[in-house]
Amino acid sequence: MEESTDKAGNSGCSEYLEILHLMLDNEATKEQENYLSAHVDKCMSCLKHYEVEKEIRILIKTKLTSQPVPPGLASEIRRKIFKSA
Ligand SMILES: [Zn+2]
Repeated sequence: MEESTDKAGNSGCSEYLEILHLMLDNEATKEQENYLSAHVDKCMSCLKHYEVEKEIRILIKTKLTSQPVPPGLASEIRRKIFKSA
């Protein structure tokens, strides 16, 4: 495992985003969670992704109890949040 690649930018982020999704689905191992949170500490881009994805899941869960979610909702939220970044 490489641990000091962060100063090079976001080159390794896709790997972390995969773990991020596992984690949000409660499918990540403890080891993966630690691995990710150490990176998110230093990487604003992944932190943002984490916040956004978490928000989307909460929103969808809330919406599901009352009414169907419009298909474009998730990407709309993503666009809104990233625009203000
Ligand atoms: Zn990252």
